[in-house]
Amino acid sequence: MTAVLKLAGVTAGYAGVPAVRDLDLEVGEGEVVALLGPNGAGKTTTLLTAAGVIAPAAGTVTAYGKPLHRRVERNARAGLVLVPDTRGVFHGLTVRENLALARRADLGRVLELFPTLEPLLSRRCGLLSGGEQQTLAIAKALVSMPRILLIDELSMGLSPIAVQAILPTVRALADRLGVAVVLVEQHIDLALTVADRAVVLHHGRAVLAGSARRLRAQRHTVAEAYFGAS
Ligand code: ATP
Repeated sequence: MTAVLKLAGVTAGYAGVPAVRDLDLEVGEGEVVALLGPNGAGKTTTLLTAAGVIAPAAGTVTAYGKPLHRRVERNARAGLVLVPDTRGVFHGLTVRENLALARRADLGRVLELFPTLEPLLSRRCGLLSGGEQQTLAIAKALVSMPRILLIDELSMGLSPIAVQAILPTVRALADRLGVAVVLVEQHIDLALTVADRAVVLHHGRAVLAGSARRLRAQRHTVAEAYFGAS
């Protein structure tokens, strides 16, 4: 498998204080990699570095074999798209208007993947449920035809049922469109159901990595790594 996104020996942080240390992470076409770990483990920092928002203090980030551009928009235009945990939908606009704001929008294709949005097209986003808003945020990222999608805290503020409804869509993006996905997710079990591989971060370091299948079978090892008991 060729990595479309590759972080090699990445150390990154804020004002010279590392939040991620010596991290290796690879994602291939059509692959979903879950990034797990407790609060403050460095998950968001990893995504920001992978998107080119934060420049690494050491190590390299490459997309399609080339170093990231220093300007975030250039990376986004090349198909590297970050879905922030703040959702990024405009509450005063309707679902249709929000989707139209994304470049290269192909509404038909989006509705094919997210049929639950169709009856909501004329509704203002401020009136959507948390799950519907998150679906829209992912749909919005999708209409710009990403090749690499970095999704932060998909489940933030959502019920497990809402998360369960959205996760298969993420899987479909990878399977049907070949998108390479990095998924930050708090629900370990749900993440391991949808991901191909997972990496557990603790204090900025990868303390456990492996196939989702293996990690599901060794669930206690994941919990130990997660809580730093190992
Ligand atoms: P959470 O699940 O709580 O979002 P996380 O795993 O995404 O956590 P990060 O947000 O990457 O973790 O934070 C990693 C470390 O970097 C933490 O110690 C945090 O306090 C610190 N940090 C995050 N953002 C900033 C910032 N803008 N300035 C300074 N330090 C920051």
